[in-house]
Amino acid sequence: MSNELLTELGASLVQGSLTDKSLLEKTAEQPVFKVLPEANVVKIGGQSIIDRGRAAVVPILDEIVENLPHHKMILGTGAGTRARHAYSVGVDLGMPTGVLSVLGTFVSMQNARMIHFLLAKHGVPFIEPIQFPQLPLYLAERQAVVFFGMPPYVFWQRNPEIGRLPPHRTDSGSYLISEMFGTRSMIYIKDEDGLFTADPKKEKHAKFIPEITVDELKAMDLPDSVVETPILDFMKNAETRRSIQIINGLKPGNITKALNGEQVGTTISAE
Ligand code: ADP
Ligand code: MG
Repeated sequence: MSNELLTELGASLVQGSLTDKSLLEKTAEQPVFKVLPEANVVKIGGQSIIDRGRAAVVPILDEIVENLPHHKMILGTGAGTRARHAYSVGVDLGMPTGVLSVLGTFVSMQNARMIHFLLAKHGVPFIEPIQFPQLPLYLAERQAVVFFGMPPYVFWQRNPEIGRLPPHRTDSGSYLISEMFGTRSMIYIKDEDGLFTADPKKEKHAKFIPEITVDELKAMDLPDSVVETPILDFMKNAETRRSIQIINGLKPGNITKALNGEQVGTTISAE
């Protein structure tokens, strides 16, 4: 290709080194395009919500259906207790992280399938990663889709720093979809009011944290977290999804408030 046809950046990218930091910085000068700025990614917790069955799931889906006329939703599902059991058997049999990641994927898929069938009469489809090109059509037609939250890393899942469990699970997969599509929100539906200074199930005096930045949260070095910790690192480099919201889905009205952009639960932001 002759150089006249290339932009200045084009010429640098064709000829330069792709590890040159100043060249890499230039690739972000053009603001990133938001693909689906009106959609919301909403992750329904696996252990925290779906494992509780009807009592927790039905009212949450009712609230989601009530919001269908007003909000576009990309619904991700967690995996939960069955995945933890599968991981324990896999670990016992010496399975590597990539294989454990396959196991977790299928459990989050089981949950996505059930959520999908419960929403089927509203025309809400279930999509696998290969069907993501159809996602905009489904959102335009039906306002929502269901996907399994697990990122499709499967065998390519990176090893964690400690132990062997896949570090990028359904919170991470949902987050990355939100960042990639430039959606207007990333809402995690769990069974606690948000982030606390410790797991409120184990520590009665844990204090609620309504708002916090990634740096502040890292500095606190909490023993346990309400969301998967790799998200905090993703957020540092985020271009669109620079905050996440964690809400208690067991309290009616919270999903509606979060979708309406109200301050409910905990907001963790990049800065
Ligand atoms: P999911 O169902 O989405 O996979 P998890 O069960 O993995 O959610 O994570 C949510 C749980 O994290 C909460 O139910 C809570 O008991 C626990 N948790 C641990 N540490 C904290 C914390 N610092 N603040 C709030 N919840 C916490
Ligand atoms: Mg989890």
